[in-house]
Parts: sequence; C-alpha cells; structure tokens
Amino acid sequence: MKRWIATTCVSLLLFSQVTACQGENGGDGGGDALTFILLFVFFPELFGEKKKGSCGASGDATAGTGTETTKDGLFDAIANLQFDGPAKEAWFDMPWGPEKHTYHEKNGKAWLAADMVMPLDRIIPAPPQGVASTVGEVRTDRRWPNKQVTWCDNSGHANRDRATFLQAIAEWEAKTSFRFTENCVDANRIRLVGNDEACWSYVGMIGGVQDLNLHTVCGKGPGIHEIGHALGLHHEQNRSDRDDFVDLNFNNMTQTGKDNFAKATSAVDKGAYDFNSIMHYGSYYFAVDSSQPVMTKKDGSIITPNRAGLSECDIEGIAALYAN
Ligand SMILES: [Zn+2]
Repeated sequence: MKRWIATTCVSLLLFSQVTACQGENGGDGGGDALTFILLFVFFPELFGEKKKGSCGASGDATAGTGTETTKDGLFDAIANLQFDGPAKEAWFDMPWGPEKHTYHEKNGKAWLAADMVMPLDRIIPAPPQGVASTVGEVRTDRRWPNKQVTWCDNSGHANRDRATFLQAIAEWEAKTSFRFTENCVDANRIRLVGNDEACWSYVGMIGGVQDLNLHTVCGKGPGIHEIGHALGLHHEQNRSDRDDFVDLNFNNMTQTGKDNFAKATSAVDKGAYDFNSIMHYGSYYFAVDSSQPVMTKKDGSIITPNRAGLSECDIEGIAALYAN
C-alpha cells in the first residue's frame, strides 16, 4: 500500500499536482509528501518493503515446509565424519579466488570443511599481499558452461543415492535455469560415488571428473546443498559479514567445527544474509555438548536449517554469480 501511495504521489508530482499528496490535515502536506517520496526513493527499506533484487535479511522462511529439524541429514553425516590428525593450513585456488583454509588430507582429497573438498593440486603459494583475487564471481573457468551440468551415476545405489540426487536435481531445475544431463562420457562431469562417508562435494566445476557423495542419511535437502557446492557456492555462515547476524560459541565446538567457521574473506557476499539459505548450517552442527548450540541468531534464538528447498536468496545469489 505504501508503495502504491508513493508511486501515485510521484506520478502526480510529475504533473505538478503536489497538493494531491497532502496529508489528511492539509497544511504543508506537500512538503511532507516530498519528504516521504525522497525517503521512499532513497531508503525503501524504511517502509518495510524489500529493495528490488534484495532477498531480505530477516531469515523468514521462504522455502521451509515446517518439516525440517534442527539436526538434519547433513548434521548426522557430518557428525559421522572422522579425520586423522590435526588440520593443516594452505592457500587454495578456490572458484572465487585464492583463499587460506585449514584442511584435512583424506583419500587423496583436501577436505576444507566437513562437506567441501578440493583437489590437492589446487594448493597454491600464498599470493603476494595486495594482489587482488578474482573476487565477486565464480570464475568463469569454474562455472558449468551455460549452466549445463553433466553427471554420471557410479553410486551403485539406484534407490538410495541416485534417487536422492534426482530429487535434488529436480529442485535446481524447477527454480533455476541450471540443467542436468546424465552422461558418463563428457570430460567434465559430476560422478555420484555412493560411498558411506557423509555428504560432500567439490566446490565449483573442477575440470574433469569430480566426485559428489550422498550418504544414506543425506536426504533431498543435503543433496540440494551439495549440488550448491558443485555449482560454486560456499556456506552462508562463512560470509564475511556473518558476525552481524550470528553468535558463535567456540567453547562448545569440535576442532573440525573450529576449522569450518573461518570467514571466507576472499569470496564476495551476494545479497542479504539469509538464515533460510540451503547453504546455512544449523545451530547444533559441530557441538561438543549436543544439548547446547554452537551458533545462534543475535537474539539467541536457534537456527533451524532449511533443508526443504532453495530459498529466494539462493535463487537470486546463484543467478548473480553466473550472471556474466
Ligand atoms: Zn556444505
């Protein structure tokens, strides 16, 4: 309604009929209307409406169905994951630019987080200070060309991993312009491997065959999340502005958790912070005492991870990352 009033006033102003926008009491309502218009044009968020292209920072559900729990399949899969020895630290050539990460080496891969992996040959020397990274977008050579994603099912679990992956694909195809083709010949492809070790994916299009795994406990939501990584997405709570939105309790965090919560400072945050992102973890991920959260909203409330589908921000964000 406020937008309609303002639009009407702007239109009337164009025809020099300022008095039509006066307040109920008349008087200097023309001045009030002008102030109102200027405020609306330059600060639309004051009027409780979202700026065009913004997906809001409220964390209100846009895709949730009410069926999610605070401890979803991804939580269970991560809880099952074991690493040997302490984490190492290195610079990685990430889709969004050079980034320093802690990681564990396992099965010939570098595990940057509990479900994000990179090839070991993407470890790079520390970039000279002051050298700009390729921030802002997923590098073009790490994107799936024309949003066409090729995949091959090597899971051996038609009714389990494959079925889950197909559900996740259906969500991406329904809400975005990405298209997925099953093809075991193309050079660049996702290979669904189907082992029993958590849910994980490489980040961005690596070039060549890149594995993606869906554990038995990974349902459709974690499947959508892992495809998000394969397209080039990082975790929402790793945004550089996350401290404005969440509080972290490092005292109740496993070491793997501590390794996972570093801010991705070389990535660029697209759109508003989104509690409802499919890429956001829940409050209890990596908790030592599972009765206590490790991450809450600033008001202390619990974050229930959306695993029902892509949020409005997810859809806008991936479109922005692949925009040019
Ligand atoms: Zn993830």
